[in-house]
Amino acid sequence: MSIGAGVIRVVRRVARMLVIGGGAALLALVAWGVMRGRPQDLPWTPLDLSQPIGAFTGRKLAALGDDFGTCRALLDRSGVRYTALPPRDDGARCGYRDAVRLRSGGPRTIGYSPASLGVACPVAAALVKWEWDVVQPAAERHFGTHVADIEHFGSYSCRRIYGRDAGSWSEHATADAVDIAGFRLADGRRVTVVRDWFGDAAQDAAFLHDVRDGACRLFATVLSPDYNAAHRDHLHLDQANRGATGWRACR
Ligand SMILES: [Zn+2]
Repeated sequence: MSIGAGVIRVVRRVARMLVIGGGAALLALVAWGVMRGRPQDLPWTPLDLSQPIGAFTGRKLAALGDDFGTCRALLDRSGVRYTALPPRDDGARCGYRDAVRLRSGGPRTIGYSPASLGVACPVAAALVKWEWDVVQPAAERHFGTHVADIEHFGSYSCRRIYGRDAGSWSEHATADAVDIAGFRLADGRRVTVVRDWFGDAAQDAAFLHDVRDGACRLFATVLSPDYNAAHRDHLHLDQANRGATGWRACR
C-alpha cells in the first residue's frame, strides 16, 4: 500500500465522520431549538391567548380571517365573555358574519366607550391581548394605575378608505378595524390621541406611543398620528388578512 492510498483512506474516513457528525449536530440543534423555543415564537403552533406575545402571534390572529368557529373557540378557552352579533349584509363589499361585542367581567377589566362596540372576532381577540399584555402594563408603568375604559370612534362602516368614492374598501366595511380615540384611567384621568400624542405631557405621549408600538405586534395594520393628518385623533387598528407572508403596517 502506497503512502498516497493511506492518506486518501484517512481523508475519506475523516470526511465521513464530519458528515455524520455534522448531520447529528444539525438535528440536535433543531431539536434543541424546538424544545426551548417558546410556542408563540413558532409558526406552526396553535394560537393561545394565555401565552405571551411572540414572533407569530400577530400573524396568527390576522390569519383567523373569517373562521368564526376557531376564533370563538379561542375566546372561549380564555374565558373571554362576548355576545355574537347577528350577521349583517350591506351589499357585495359591506357586512360581516363574525362580529362580536366584548362583555366586561371575567378575565377582562376594561370597558369600551361607547359600550356598543362590535368588531370582527380576530379584532376582538387582538384587543383582548392588547388590553392584557400592552395597555394595562403600560398604564401601570406610566401612571401607576390601570385603564378603566377605552374610548373609540367605532368599527363597522360601509365605506372605502378615507371615505373616497373610488379605491380600496376599508377594513371598516367588514368590521375588521377599530379606531381608538383615548383611554380613561381608573383615577378618572383621560389620555386622548388628539390632545396628547404630540402634547406637552411627556408621560401621556409616552404611554400612547407604547400602546401603539404594542398594537403593532398584534394587528396587521396600525396607523397613528405619525402616519398622516387623517389619523391625528385616533389609532386605526385592523386585522386585514394578507396571508401568512403578507405585509404588515406599523406607522
Ligand atoms: Zn380606522
